Amino acid sequence: MSGAEAQPLPTAFVDRLRASLPADRFEAVLASFGTVKPTSFRVNTLKAADDEVVEQLKAEGLSPSDVPGVPHAFVVPDAQRRALTESRAVADGRVYIQGIASMLAPLVLDPQPGEAVLDLCAAPGGKTLMLAAMMANTGILNAVEPGRTRFFKLKANLERGGATMVKTYLTDGRSVGRKTPDRFDKVLVDAPCAGEAMFTTRDPASYADWSEKKVERCARVQKALLCAALAAVKPGGSVLYCTCSLSVSENEGVVSHTLGKLGDRVAAEPVADLPAATLPALTGWRGKVFESGVGHGVRVLPNATHDAFFLARLRRLA
Ligand code: SAM
Repeated sequence: MSGAEAQPLPTAFVDRLRASLPADRFEAVLASFGTVKPTSFRVNTLKAADDEVVEQLKAEGLSPSDVPGVPHAFVVPDAQRRALTESRAVADGRVYIQGIASMLAPLVLDPQPGEAVLDLCAAPGGKTLMLAAMMANTGILNAVEPGRTRFFKLKANLERGGATMVKTYLTDGRSVGRKTPDRFDKVLVDAPCAGEAMFTTRDPASYADWSEKKVERCARVQKALLCAALAAVKPGGSVLYCTCSLSVSENEGVVSHTLGKLGDRVAAEPVADLPAATLPALTGWRGKVFESGVGHGVRVLPNATHDAFFLARLRRLA
């Protein structure tokens, strides 16, 4: 950051945050925007075993420690971030640098080898790679991304990581339900969002373009993407909706809208216990009561080791 006066978090953002959290959690969440977190990464089991990678990183002077409850996940102190980024293991795709909260989505979706899975908002590909590793490169894994530059970044990351099962599509996810109805066992919607979990007071550029209008704009796209995912999944299949935003409009609001729109064709389901600090999703907000089932979603709260995240699982009823 320059010597210029630090730019505080936007007041409207802080007000919305306060209104969405229990009073005894608010200050800690607010403080987390100024915290330096360790750097986390995942060993890519398509290319290497945990022990081999950990030994090599230690030989290079790093000190990885594992993350309880998240298979193949490790952290190094923030001061080692650069060395990790420049390590051979990252260059050759044995390691992928990824937030711990981000790793929770594939764990909850729980794809199995041989299944047909769609990753609807895929670039730069951290979750696609993790899905491919969990599926042992067996079955169908389609990855969609409409941004051209991000699409090629996705392709490069998948190639580096040896995710040979993945077919990539440069297209708008909102069109996918119409093009491939009833096709997939599981769909991940890691939606484009206002990115509130990525805000850091050490870099005010991270929130410079935040506004309530932006949040509402994101929510409109998110609703369309979630509907497309529910059209693309087979009857009986499941969709995991997630964002790295804390905003209720982009999280519970989107899920509630979708449940209301699709009625008895869709149901929300509980998300299993996660190895993270969590709260259940809100069942109402600013005087509005959400559709039944919205409370099954999970709000991952930011802390010293991971960022915020939101996850909700929906099942398309047969
Ligand atoms: N899943 C990714 C990962 O783990 O690396 C991160 C996804 S990021 C949160 C959201 C992505 O959705 C961005 O790459 C963005 O370009 C893409 N996106 C934006 N609009 C979209 C749309 N209409 N359909 C599909 N993807 C979209």
